Amino acid sequence: MENREQMNIVIVGHVDHGKSTVIGRLLADTDSLPEGKLEAVKEYCKKNSRPFEYAFLLDALKDEQAQGITIDTARCFFKTGKRDYIIIDAPGHIEFLKNMVTGASRAEAALLVIDAKEGIRENSKRHGHIVSMLGIKQVVVLVNKMDLVDFDSDVFNSIKSEFTEFLTKINIKPLNFIPISAFNGDNIAAASENTLWYEGPTVLAQLDGFANKKENRELPFRMPVQDIYKFTEENDDRRIVAGTVLSGNVKAGDEVVFLPSQKKSIISSIESFNTAPAETAYADQAVGFTLKTQIYIKPGELMVRTNEPLPVLSSRFRVNIFWVGHVPLIKNRNYKLKIGTMRISVKLVEILNIIDAAELNIDTFKDQVERHDVAECILETAKPIAFDAISDLELTGRFVMVDNYEISGGGIILEGVSDSENSL
Ligand code: GDP
Repeated sequence: MENREQMNIVIVGHVDHGKSTVIGRLLADTDSLPEGKLEAVKEYCKKNSRPFEYAFLLDALKDEQAQGITIDTARCFFKTGKRDYIIIDAPGHIEFLKNMVTGASRAEAALLVIDAKEGIRENSKRHGHIVSMLGIKQVVVLVNKMDLVDFDSDVFNSIKSEFTEFLTKINIKPLNFIPISAFNGDNIAAASENTLWYEGPTVLAQLDGFANKKENRELPFRMPVQDIYKFTEENDDRRIVAGTVLSGNVKAGDEVVFLPSQKKSIISSIESFNTAPAETAYADQAVGFTLKTQIYIKPGELMVRTNEPLPVLSSRFRVNIFWVGHVPLIKNRNYKLKIGTMRISVKLVEILNIIDAAELNIDTFKDQVERHDVAECILETAKPIAFDAISDLELTGRFVMVDNYEISGGGIILEGVSDSENSL
């Protein structure tokens, strides 16, 4: 079977600014619709004396998908020559944010849609904020409904400069602004005759230009240690360090270091269960290692290679967390943090920003994180732990928080912070 590359993108914008129309257009212009669907919906509109809307097309598709049980109705697919795209729609912000922050889904890029006639709305800014909190780096702004402003470059440029100023404040550097009319198809798949003053790519060319995430095997080696086994034979004091490789690969002879203990050794052999020893262990394999020197390490440590980018080792870090606990997350109380196979006591020390996921209100003055809030905050563990910033390595940049034996939150680590930085 053909192995096509996939990319997840999110599309956000104020209601009625044209998200569904953009999606409908992308599906239609890339021939990604089931045969006859476009005609059927057009026919239906004609019969019922309604103007055709691309949004109806999406509704029709979703109705169909909803009848099957396996298809996620929040997802739409379209294909270009380069790859398959999955559009993660934001159906009800709570589920969307929960999935994005806790890692159930992850987007490589975001499209922000703004209505050229209405201009930037408060929601456009909130969505910008969310994209920033999710750590999405590839952001493109679509200035839609350009037909309603006569494709006037002044309107486009003033939205562009005003929104760029806002996005810069929240650490987003948009890759591009594209003037479009989703309804008419201007600059979606083909360059528009109506915007000769615009020299950038079309939406599709822009999407195909996005960088995708790397395959797990190509990333640095990371394995959370699950267990340490002793050999059963007498006089054999070797141990097997067991776990599932999250990313990268490792060979016998490679030097490895375990974190947080920082103990080093060299891999002697790679043992898989019920199979002959392997030369190399790869991402997603459950394996055991024997080491050249006897070191005492504990389950929960992160095993990495010394000749690759190392994870961060810190007890303080800046995170975005999605809280689902029935009781609010409060400062200076002990919670349990789970990251990889590590379980450790953790405290909330500072709240930097909160978005209420239901209303999308941004609140910087709250002193506790309530159910369904997304909060940017600083956490502190009882001892230093090993992790990667989410922008470096996703698999080791996610964590779960437990309150009273219940999973109460999940999140992503943005960066490690040192004590001195934090005491500013
Ligand atoms: P959503 O709420 O963001 O998904 O917005 P929709 O895609 O449903 O669009 C809202 C309304 O704007 C619909 O009536 C669309 O037909 C209309 N619309 C969307 N794109 C354009 C456009 O490029 N030009 C014009 N004139 N109308 C548009």
